[in-house]
Amino acid sequence: MSTDPNAVGGLEIDRDLSDANTLALPSRAERLWHARTEPSVVDGLQLANAHGWPITVLGGGSNLLLPPWVGGLTLRADIEDLVFRQGRGDTVHVEVGAGAGWHTLVEACVGRELWGIENLALIPGLAGAAPIQNIGAYGVELADVIDWVELVDRRDARGQRLDRDACGLGYRDSVFKRELAGQVVITRLGLTLSTRPRPQLDYGILRERVAATPGVRDVFEAVCAIRREKLPDPVRMPNAGSFFKNPLVTETIASRLLRQSPSMPHYPQLDGQVKLAAGWLIDQCGLKGWRDGAFGVHDRQALVLVHFGGGTLEGLLAFADKVVDAVHARFGVMLEREPRCVEA
Ligand SMILES: Cc1cc2nc3c(=O)[nH]c(=O)nc-3n(C[C@H](O)[C@H](O)[C@H](O)COP(=O)(O)OP(=O)(O)OC[C@H]3O[C@@H](n4cnc5c(N)ncnc54)[C@H](O)[C@@H]3O)c2cc1C
Repeated sequence: MSTDPNAVGGLEIDRDLSDANTLALPSRAERLWHARTEPSVVDGLQLANAHGWPITVLGGGSNLLLPPWVGGLTLRADIEDLVFRQGRGDTVHVEVGAGAGWHTLVEACVGRELWGIENLALIPGLAGAAPIQNIGAYGVELADVIDWVELVDRRDARGQRLDRDACGLGYRDSVFKRELAGQVVITRLGLTLSTRPRPQLDYGILRERVAATPGVRDVFEAVCAIRREKLPDPVRMPNAGSFFKNPLVTETIASRLLRQSPSMPHYPQLDGQVKLAAGWLIDQCGLKGWRDGAFGVHDRQALVLVHFGGGTLEGLLAFADKVVDAVHARFGVMLEREPRCVEA
């Protein structure tokens, strides 16, 4: 392989990324490498390693906070293939490339009457990013269906397969956010879905929106409709979805807060912690619909911060800090950011 950046295909120099992040933050990549195959991912990593460039992995940019300048090599795994294999009994194994759109994958599975990821419809981004924060919605998360993840490790530019247990998937968390953070490029995922109906309707108002024995398409369409009502479309109103994680607190803290605010939504977890609703906490501080310059708290969903245009990452982080401070002052709970901030 050539390590001369100008001699290698798939490379764009000084690429505008403002259309490659759903918050529409102004940003430029020093170099953007499009890898359409696994060997091309390896080539990109070897090129960066040979030149000592830092590497940023980019998916659909819906969970990333980009600085004005991203130095080194920004790499996107644009592998898009999709294969279905019949498994035992009612199971079907799905193998999907990291560059496939997540919602396109959900639609393809629903089109084949496969159950398992219909509640995850309309989550923006690419399949390769789904394991990073173990995407979840409406009572289902990727961990419920994933079998394995294939990746290339940037340290030795070699491919390997991790089974589900090795991915360490938790609430908005995985080994890719911890031990392997910034070290790997995910190239492919394996999921197991089912032809047997198994609707998951226990979350929010989903059950009210479908018939008693819904088909997989009914659930899919109900999820899409609810999401369209509640969440701003990033194309019209730039945002990164939930800007904060729902905080986990001890039972003692939850009890204290419940004495103060008996109507506070709270969800006891199996490990004894209690999950609170970050959006509710922000709303209680009177911040829903609050705007300060280029950024605001969305007027229907307080968990979502929106960009009205003309802002920068620095401005967004300062705005988010004000929200965090307000919630901390009122409830004594620290909100944690969900999207990852790319280092300049
Ligand atoms: C309107 C809206 C609604 C949303 N709703 C939900 C929701 O309901 N549930 C939910 O869980 N999330 C939600 N999100 C967040 C986001 O869509 C998901 O986290 C999604 O998986 C991010 O995918 P992406 O391709 O855009 O990743 P990016 O934002 O491009 O990247 C996210 C992280 O993954 C890393 N990464 C990306 N691709 C790879 C790869 N191939 N290999 C290694 N690392 C990689 C990046 O380096 C970065 O750290 C929402 C976002 C928006 C804008």
